[in-house]
Amino acid sequence: MKTIKLLAVLVIIGLLLVSGCSSKDDQNGESEDDRGTTVSESSADTVWTCSMHPEIRESEPGSCSKCSMKLIKAAK
Ligand SMILES: [Zn+2]
Repeated sequence: MKTIKLLAVLVIIGLLLVSGCSSKDDQNGESEDDRGTTVSESSADTVWTCSMHPEIRESEPGSCSKCSMKLIKAAK
C-alpha cells in the first residue's frame, strides 16, 4: 500500500510540473500574438496595419476594416 501512495504522489507531482511548464509557455506565446497585451510599453508609438492592406494604419490593435483580419504591428 505504501508504494502505491508513493507512486500516486510522484505522478501528481509530475503532472503538476508538466502542466505548469506548458501553461507558462502557452501564456507567453499567446499574450503577444493574441491581443498585443504588451501595448502599455509603446502604444503611442506603435502603428497597426493589415498584412493585406498596408494603407490601413491604426494607432490601436484591432481588425482590418476591409477584410477584418487581425492587425499587425507595422514596421516603420
Ligand atoms: Zn485587410
